[in-house]
Amino acid sequence: MQQYRMYIDGRWVESLSGEWFESSNPYTGLPWARIPRGNGADVDCAVAAAARALQDPAWRGLTASGRGELLRRLGDALADRADFLAGIEVRDNGKLYAEMRAQTHYLRQWYYYYGGLADKIEGAVIPTDKAGHFNYTRHEPVGVVAAIIPWNSPLLLASWKLAPALAAGNTVVFKPSEYTSASLLEFARIVERVGFPPGVLNVVTGFGAEVGAPLVEHPQVAKVAFTGSDQTGRQIYQAAARGMKRVTMELGGKSPNIVFADARQDNAVKGVISGIFAASGQTCVAGSRLLVQRAIHDEFVDKLLAFARHARLGDPMSPDTQVGPVTNLPQLEKILGYIDIARAEGADCLLGGGRPDTPGLEQGWFVEPTIFAGVHNRMRIAREEVFGPVLSIIPFEDEEEAVAIANDSPYGLAAGIWTEDLRRALTLPDRLEAGTVWVNTYRTMSYLTPFGGFKQSGLGKESGQDSLREYLKVKSVWLSTTEDVPDPFVIR
Ligand code: ADP
Repeated sequence: MQQYRMYIDGRWVESLSGEWFESSNPYTGLPWARIPRGNGADVDCAVAAAARALQDPAWRGLTASGRGELLRRLGDALADRADFLAGIEVRDNGKLYAEMRAQTHYLRQWYYYYGGLADKIEGAVIPTDKAGHFNYTRHEPVGVVAAIIPWNSPLLLASWKLAPALAAGNTVVFKPSEYTSASLLEFARIVERVGFPPGVLNVVTGFGAEVGAPLVEHPQVAKVAFTGSDQTGRQIYQAAARGMKRVTMELGGKSPNIVFADARQDNAVKGVISGIFAASGQTCVAGSRLLVQRAIHDEFVDKLLAFARHARLGDPMSPDTQVGPVTNLPQLEKILGYIDIARAEGADCLLGGGRPDTPGLEQGWFVEPTIFAGVHNRMRIAREEVFGPVLSIIPFEDEEEAVAIANDSPYGLAAGIWTEDLRRALTLPDRLEAGTVWVNTYRTMSYLTPFGGFKQSGLGKESGQDSLREYLKVKSVWLSTTEDVPDPFVIR
C-alpha cells in the first residue's frame, strides 16, 4: 500500500486527526493507497496558508511575467512526468491508460497558454466625462480560490482551474475527490519542485462533507471553482451565496447527439460511440440521448449495435481495451439502478444491461455498454444523468421536433449534430440550448476554447480567455487632476 500525505503551506503533512482512508483500483476492486482523511481543522491551515501566500512578497511581488514563467516551467515539468501521472490516474479511476496518457500529455498546454496570458491582463484608461479627473481600471486576483474536483479526469479538471487562477495571481486550495486523491498529490510534488512559493497551491484530501463543505464556507475563501454533480453543485452554490463568493460551476448533462437522415452514418456511429462508451460514459459531456431521424432509425441503430457489440472490455492499462471499469462501487450501483429504471419505464434494452460475465473481469467494477431504444424524452432515463455507458435512443421526425426534444432538458452542457446539410450545420447550433455544440464531431476540446454549460449544467466558463476573467475582479481608480477641491455638498 502506498501512503500519501497532504500538501499544505509547502509541507507534506498527515491530517491533524491522524485518520486515513483507502483508495481502490476499479479494475481489481482492491485498495492500493492510504490517503489522509482531512477535516475542517486541516482546511483552516490550508486556507490560512493560501491567504498568507497572497500577501507574501514571493508571490504578490512576483511580476506578471514572472508568474507566466513559473507556469510555463510547470508545463515543462508536467510533460516529463505525464506517463507516470497517467498511470496513477488509471489506478484510481479505471479509465483507459491511452486516454489518460493523452490527457496528461496535453495538460501542459493549459500552463503554457495561461502562462502566456499572465502578463496580458490589462486594465483600461477610461476617457471619463468628468472634467479634471483621470480614471483607470485594474484587474486584480479575487483571492483564495477553493477548487473542488471530481474523479473522472482529476488532473485535467484541476488544470482548467489552476492555470487561470495562478495566471491571475490567486492562491488555491484543492479538494480532490475521495476516490481519486493520489494524482493531485503527485502533481503537487511537481508544483513544489518548479518553485512556487509555499501556500500558493495546497491540497487537502478527504470527504465532501468533512473537507469540501468547510472549505466552501471558509470566510477567507473568495471564490469556489467546482466540477461535479448538479446536486452537490447546488449545495455549494447556496453555501457560497451566504458568503457572497464567486463561483464557477461545471455540472452534469444529458446531452443530445442528433443524427439526421443526410448524415454520413459511419462517422455518426463513431461519434455516438465516442460520446457514450468512451470513458465508460463517465464524462460530463456524454452524449447520452441519441436522437435519430425516423427515416434512418432502424438502419442506423443496426449499424450502431454492430459496432458497439464488439467493444472490448478489459484491463484499462492494456492498449487493446476499449471500455474499462467504472470508477467506484456506488457509481456502479447507481448505473445498474438506472438500467432497472429504464426497463421498468418500458424502454427496450437492445444491448448490454448489466455486469459482464467475461472471465477475468469479475473483480472489476464493469458495466456492459448498454443501449435502450424506444425511449421517450419524458422518461427518467432521458432526463437524469446516469454517468455511465448507457445510451437512450429517441426517434424524431424533422428538424423542429429534434430541436424541441434536444432543448427539453433541465441540462444544457453540450450537443452533437450529424448532417451533411450546410444550412442546417450553420443554423442549428444557434437554436440549441447548450454551452458547446459539435457538428460532425463529438468531445473535441481545447485549452483555447471556453467550455461550460447553460441551464442546470452550470455557470461560468473554463479554458480560453473567458476563463481568466472568472479569476479576476475589476477595480476602478479615480484621480483628480485639478488644483481645487469642488463644493463638498454637491456630487457631480
Ligand atoms: P461525483 O459523483 O462526481 O463524485 P460529487 O458532486 O458528489 O460528484 O463530487 C464532486 C466533488 O465534490 C468531490 O470532490 C466531493 O468530495 C465534493 N463534495 C461532495 N459533497 C460536497 C459538499 N457538500 N461540499 C463541498 N464539496 C463536496
